[in-house]
Amino acid sequence: MLADYHLHTPLCKHAVGAPREYVARAAELGLVEIAFTDHVPAPSGYDPAFRMELRQFPAYRRRVAEAARDAPLPVRFGIEADYTPAELPFLERWLPEQGFDLVLGSVHYIGDWGFDNPDNQAGWVGREVASVWREYFGLVGALADTRLFDVLGHLDLPKKFGHRLAEAALRELAQPALDRLAAAGMALEINTAGLRKPVGEMYPSLLLLELARQREIPITFGSDAHAPAEVGQAFDQALALARAAGYDAYCRFAGRRAQRTPLPAPK
Ligand code: ZN
Ligand code: FE
Ligand code: FE
Ligand code: ZN
Repeated sequence: MLADYHLHTPLCKHAVGAPREYVARAAELGLVEIAFTDHVPAPSGYDPAFRMELRQFPAYRRRVAEAARDAPLPVRFGIEADYTPAELPFLERWLPEQGFDLVLGSVHYIGDWGFDNPDNQAGWVGREVASVWREYFGLVGALADTRLFDVLGHLDLPKKFGHRLAEAALRELAQPALDRLAAAGMALEINTAGLRKPVGEMYPSLLLLELARQREIPITFGSDAHAPAEVGQAFDQALALARAAGYDAYCRFAGRRAQRTPLPAPK
């Protein structure tokens, strides 16, 4: 089976279940490894409703270590680090010092608009869909250029509520961002959480994953679980998507070093 590299904890204020319960579910499913990747603290005040405070970070480290201690599978220590220009000075200084196994980079904001928050959907009114995607991919490229992150989370997140781009436009806007991810040596996450959202499909789409494969960008798998029952969810579909895009391997991380791992055979 696969490794689930995107798990949250209640410290982000919108997840339920103790880390131990996530570990138990992973073991039950036969996952080979998991990584906790809760939302990074943001001392400059970015998006405080959805993350731990900096003073809670030691508790996060301790809870993950406790869950790892008796776990029947390796439990990695990661973080979902939101890329936002205001927090960049903090991230540059702080991220490399924490001893993470992996750092997931993601973009949830365009300017001060949290575009994937269900409460902020009015922000689409009066915005052109293509210009939102253009700005979004620009931020993904800027994230890659920082060289601070190992894996890009949920690449086509702006589709979450159904704001899709036509294939030709998507290809044109995504390719420069994918080139910058490849140049940074980053991996790309296949994230099954989109199946639970209005869009009803994984991030990224097959088209984008094929473009990543052409650039030899490695992949990881993540459920983005905010509850123990979501661990490893729809990983059979994620595996099928990876194979459909031409992948035969994925990445595991320890100490921020990637190790190529063959994909399991389809069931
Ligand atoms: Zn979350
Ligand atoms: Fe995210
Ligand atoms: Fe997440
Ligand atoms: Zn996420």
